[in-house]
Amino acid sequence: MEESQTSDTARRLLTLSWPVLVPLLGAFVALQALSPGGAASATARSAATFLPPILIAAAGLLAWRFNRSRVVYVALTVGLSAEALSLFLPGGTQVQMATARAGLSMIVSLNLVVFALIQERGLTTTLGLTRFSLFGFEAVGLWSLTDPQNALMGRLLDTPLFALPWFLHPSLARPAVLVFLAAFLILLWRALTTRGAIEVGILGALLAAGLVLQPEASNTERQVYLAAAGLVLVLALVETSHSLAYRDELTSLPGRRALNEQLGQLSGRYALAMLDIDHFKKFNDSYGHDAGDQCLRFVSAKLAAVPGGGRAYRYGGEEFTVLFPGKTVSEAAPFLEQLRESIADSKFTVRAQGRPKKKPDKPTKAGPMKSVGVTMSMGAAEFGDASGAFDDPQLVMQAADKRLYKSKREGRNRLTFKG
Ligand code: GH3
Ligand code: MG
Ligand code: MG
Repeated sequence: MEESQTSDTARRLLTLSWPVLVPLLGAFVALQALSPGGAASATARSAATFLPPILIAAAGLLAWRFNRSRVVYVALTVGLSAEALSLFLPGGTQVQMATARAGLSMIVSLNLVVFALIQERGLTTTLGLTRFSLFGFEAVGLWSLTDPQNALMGRLLDTPLFALPWFLHPSLARPAVLVFLAAFLILLWRALTTRGAIEVGILGALLAAGLVLQPEASNTERQVYLAAAGLVLVLALVETSHSLAYRDELTSLPGRRALNEQLGQLSGRYALAMLDIDHFKKFNDSYGHDAGDQCLRFVSAKLAAVPGGGRAYRYGGEEFTVLFPGKTVSEAAPFLEQLRESIADSKFTVRAQGRPKKKPDKPTKAGPMKSVGVTMSMGAAEFGDASGAFDDPQLVMQAADKRLYKSKREGRNRLTFKG
């Protein structure tokens, strides 16, 4: 793998995971400071008690404002589970406590998986409100689970089915460990495949909730991990609003705003290419607008993987920009050629559309699949070239655009970077 690709992957992983890493690392540091004799002042110690509900509530409110009902449910799940646990703390017997922890851990695991997988719906829709009833059922379930009469459940959870690894407390209920592990794997898979900040946040919330519910967690530990869960969700929402502003929804590529900011920040030499899909209007006409969107996503995936340290943006419509920081236009050209060929050489399948001439007897679910190809024309220019001709980003872009239209005139599916 190329060095720039490795650092690109590392950068992407870091942007994806910081909303989880920062609060969890922060929690470990805070716990050191809050330990008896630690560096924390009396004010900081008292903050540890009121911060968690504030952060959980902030996450819930932000989520509600951003219409992220799934995060509202997650914040509620985590907050209520910590609350429920503290209800058992004062008078609970050993068995009751262990059962409550196991029950709560299973509830949190299952809920978070459900909330990571369901579709976003408004909170006040019928479906949105129905989802709240889940919490009621779970409270009843937990209450009957921890009923002292229900000794069977306690014993069932207590069965040592397998040995636990050293870093887990030996008293952990095995079924709860299995459910937590399954939830962790599902959420990890979800976070990596969707790369969505919310999905990553839900994974982080599961980890933090697991730490809140661990046996023998002190009061302070529970508070700090609960605060971490709240902060994870708040940061995940911040990250979502960032991608709302900077990423194009259809293609997931950074959009025009991101490009303009990047152009304002780049100093020194760089190459800039403008790319446009050939005969895209005809493509839309032949296969339909949905297939056109699919084509844009297909092309974007190729663009996102452009070699040579290039960064792709959706400029608008079926037009894209690729930046090569630090490269001259002749250095960038081979990578653009490689990109152009890889797009021209590959095919993707669309569902052939076209209205049927007469109304079908029964609605057809799917049209036949068709394998189609697409090509792109490109024009590239460079900032800071020896002639000093293009020393303004706008001029570089205009020059690249002019060359793009030269490529179009000369027959399309080609790159122009001179003249
Ligand atoms: P040329 O080779 O000269 O570029 O021909 P063209 O047909 O691609 O020309 P033009 O740039 O005028 O066409 C752009 C078309 O792209 C028109 C518009 O319907 C379509 N388009 C723009 N944005 C989208 C989109 O988000 N989805 C879909 N499906 N089509 C889009
Ligand atoms: Mg166009
Ligand atoms: Mg076009």
